[in-house]
Amino acid sequence: MNEVILLKLGEIVLKGQNRRAFEESLLKTIRRRIAPKGEYKVSISQSTIYVEPQRDDCDLDEAEEKISKIFGVVAYSRACIVEKDLEAIQKAAVEYLADELNAARVFKVESKRADKKFPYKSPEISGEVGGYILENYPHIAVDVHKPDVTVRVEVREKGAYIHSDPKPGAGGIPVGTGGKAAILISGGIDSPVAAWMMARRGVELTAIHFASPPYTSERALDKVERLLKKVSEYCGRIKMYIVNFTEIQEQIRDFCPEELSTVIMRRFMMRVSEKIAREEECHALITGESLGQVASQTMQAIECTDACAGLPVFRPLIGTDKSEIVKIAQNIDTFETSIEPFEDCCTVFTPRHPRTKPTLNLLMGAEKNLDVEALVQKCMDTLEVKYIDYRK
Ligand code: ATP
Ligand code: MG
Repeated sequence: MNEVILLKLGEIVLKGQNRRAFEESLLKTIRRRIAPKGEYKVSISQSTIYVEPQRDDCDLDEAEEKISKIFGVVAYSRACIVEKDLEAIQKAAVEYLADELNAARVFKVESKRADKKFPYKSPEISGEVGGYILENYPHIAVDVHKPDVTVRVEVREKGAYIHSDPKPGAGGIPVGTGGKAAILISGGIDSPVAAWMMARRGVELTAIHFASPPYTSERALDKVERLLKKVSEYCGRIKMYIVNFTEIQEQIRDFCPEELSTVIMRRFMMRVSEKIAREEECHALITGESLGQVASQTMQAIECTDACAGLPVFRPLIGTDKSEIVKIAQNIDTFETSIEPFEDCCTVFTPRHPRTKPTLNLLMGAEKNLDVEALVQKCMDTLEVKYIDYRK
């Protein structure tokens, strides 16, 4: 029996004149992601994308796994394709959906007839297929309101497709259609989730990580790379900048009031990140901050941090609770890595009593003790670049 994967598009269909560009971008992504998994034909017709294996050795389970991580796809289902003949459709429904029908107590059939030349109307198709299922599965009954399984029949140009309930896709819009932004990534729980959320809104990501060797270790860096790799399964290859932050942190420790050190550090992160972002033609920065979570995430601290960011700072988690963030981290499989106990540059120099309501005046006064420009420039001169790819 010939099998295909049908993909349903989400918001992408609402994009008016940009719709074609969105669809093209999505088709390109799908082709690229599943190409290493075999030879497939990927095409679109009437807001449905068809992924059709071209050879017997194509592994549809693998293709499905890749498809589940492509933004822009709201739902997908494996379907069998048969000739446009009522008897063939009936037989296929009974055979192809045997597992689902055996497990169900009640079912219904939903039919769509896109090919108007097919001699049966949709309700007739549903009636005929439903009747045949009842004959073959005596334990099962029809319930159109609360079915355990819905048998879907779509009669289209190329043939009849039969499938059951679709699985939810990753949602969002295709990566690359929402501009480019730089994610400040730590090894924590929050920033990988923030990265994933913005990628889901179509944003192409560049990553920036601040490391402070020897206070932070190679293993801490390795953890960040593994986290980004998980994110890259959704958004494709990510260029990662590693900033050597040691000197800045030591100078803050030695020359600034301890209670302000975290916010001063974060202001430096913004300055360096803005420069990298501009070189990369990014139009925004992204962080994993959530209001009130720690001292540097009070409204006053955020105000002071943003005062030296010359680009918009996106904080997709700002209004979320930790438990909600953890749930997403578990879903995208970053959680277990995030909780590995490695130090971050933020945690190495944590003040005992951080000021929760800093003011710009206080900070600018404290920063007079430092050669801000020179320190930032030094970071820019010693950047390290890596490419993070889910395939490696
Ligand atoms: P996370 O779980 O993402 O580490 P957090 O709740 O621990 O967040 P902080 O450590 O205060 O909060 O960091 C807030 C945000 O600042 C992070 O979400 C991240 O975007 C950025 N950030 C923190 N440390 C680093 C780092 N070493 N390199 C790059 N960005 C960082
Ligand atoms: Mg952190």
